[in-house]
Amino acid sequence: MVLERTLSIIKPDGVKKSVIGNILNRFEEAGLKIVALKMVQLNKEEAEGFYAVHKDRPFFGELTSFIASGPVVISVLEGKDSISINRELMGATNPDEADPGTIREDFANSIGENTVHGSDGPETAAQEIAYFFTEAELVN
Ligand code: ATP
Ligand code: MG
Repeated sequence: MVLERTLSIIKPDGVKKSVIGNILNRFEEAGLKIVALKMVQLNKEEAEGFYAVHKDRPFFGELTSFIASGPVVISVLEGKDSISINRELMGATNPDEADPGTIREDFANSIGENTVHGSDGPETAAQEIAYFFTEAELVN
């Protein structure tokens, strides 16, 4: 079986709503292994670096201020098809369009405060994991 890794962030709204355990439990129930985990508050520069792909989007300032506004829980999830499984668990970016039973449908307030981030492909997953973790910080 080819294991794949993805980066997950529980955004400040998810931490404030006390649903960290609920969300991590969904990952584990779906068969994804948590192989790295930390809780941090990003500063504005770290947030801008992480979301650099969105720097020309009109919501960049709002997005990076929000992600730096409070603690976040960053994890690396490992398993077969972890990237797409995590995206399915998350639901659509806009919670109004997210399927019932998804994290965003259950918890998100708006497209800006949408509770979770998940890598969208193998290249971005590798970049995003390396942005927050060294190889030595991932357990086997
Ligand atoms: P994420 O990258 O956070 O997992 P995503 O891949 O579903 O979400 P992207 O298109 O990559 O969505 O957008 C990144 C983030 O930017 C979204 O999660 C959302 O918080 C924010 N965002 C996207 N579109 C808008 C918008 N129109 N207005 C405000 N914020 C937005
Ligand atoms: Mg994205």
